[in-house]
Amino acid sequence: MYTKLENMMGRFGTFIYDNPFKVILVVLALLAVPISYVPQIQGSEMSYINNINLHTIKKDYSGNKIQNGKFVEYVSQTKTIAEILKWKLESNIKDDEYSLDIIKNNKFLAQQDDFIVWLGHATFLIQVNGKRIITDPCLTSPIFTKRHTEIPLKIKDILPDYILISHGHFDHLDSSTIKYFNNATALVPLKMKKIIENMNSSIKIQEAGWYQQYSIDEEFNIYFLPALHWHRRTLFDTNEVLWGSFIIETPNKVIYFAGDTGYDTHFKEIGKLFDIDIAILPIGTYAPRWFMKDNHMNPKDAYKAFFDLRAKILIPKHFGTFDISNEPMGEPEEIIRKIMKPEQLKVLTIGKEILL
Ligand SMILES: [Zn+2]
Ligand SMILES: [Zn+2]
Repeated sequence: MYTKLENMMGRFGTFIYDNPFKVILVVLALLAVPISYVPQIQGSEMSYINNINLHTIKKDYSGNKIQNGKFVEYVSQTKTIAEILKWKLESNIKDDEYSLDIIKNNKFLAQQDDFIVWLGHATFLIQVNGKRIITDPCLTSPIFTKRHTEIPLKIKDILPDYILISHGHFDHLDSSTIKYFNNATALVPLKMKKIIENMNSSIKIQEAGWYQQYSIDEEFNIYFLPALHWHRRTLFDTNEVLWGSFIIETPNKVIYFAGDTGYDTHFKEIGKLFDIDIAILPIGTYAPRWFMKDNHMNPKDAYKAFFDLRAKILIPKHFGTFDISNEPMGEPEEIIRKIMKPEQLKVLTIGKEILL
């Protein structure tokens, strides 16, 4: 018993020592216990919302379900505070020497042709018809999150035309990055407008519900689609902002950008709606499985999703940049390379563009 307790305290000590901010996390988590017991209003009406100014591509879809101000459709299971603490006390020893290759490079900014370049984690810069689209911009180290890769170019040089944000978690929406993107247009989920306005008031914002097409005057189309995930940026806003995924449909290519997501039936449905060439799918943040499975896919899930989407190429993301889960840093890439044929898989080097 003593050994077990001592072992647990030792892990707790390492957990705290590892990052002093985690002390704040523990205090906040304990504070959240009484806060999270807000009584639910019995019998309150379920309603459906969307952006009435946008076109909905799925017939008979009346919008995203919302109840008591919270999105309730396709929510991955919310974890209790006790489960979060149990996970945080589990071993997270990283003994692999893995690090992602990175090329310091900004020459692609002068590129005329369509291209895609990985900037790390879920952030990609995709150029279509001379317009720059950046996904889930997080190019610094947000609170509690140590960055393991450098970025290939200066954030201020990126100057995107469009910012696509799949959901509000800090590793996908980073205020220190967004503040550089003056006058861009942000294409975001329902109810995210206020968060972006507070980060950078010069950004134009369009919100969409699932199966809605953003209204952009371009030779390409962008649609917002489902994901199995959830939202929280503060203790008080759980699932008050929607989450999802994107299709970028260019004259030559159809690109699917999954947000964070568990594996589920939405991939099959999206695969029926679009003829996808490239699927950018998350393959990391899956351990411990008991905690992460509902929110994040492992490489095998990603391969199933790729199959369901009927995509031609998989570009993996959400690994190797931030240490936010317990699997070894190199494991997601090692597994995905084992289970996929080389012609199906394109693991990008950070900073090295590929033409579309
Ligand atoms: Zn997330
Ligand atoms: Zn994430």
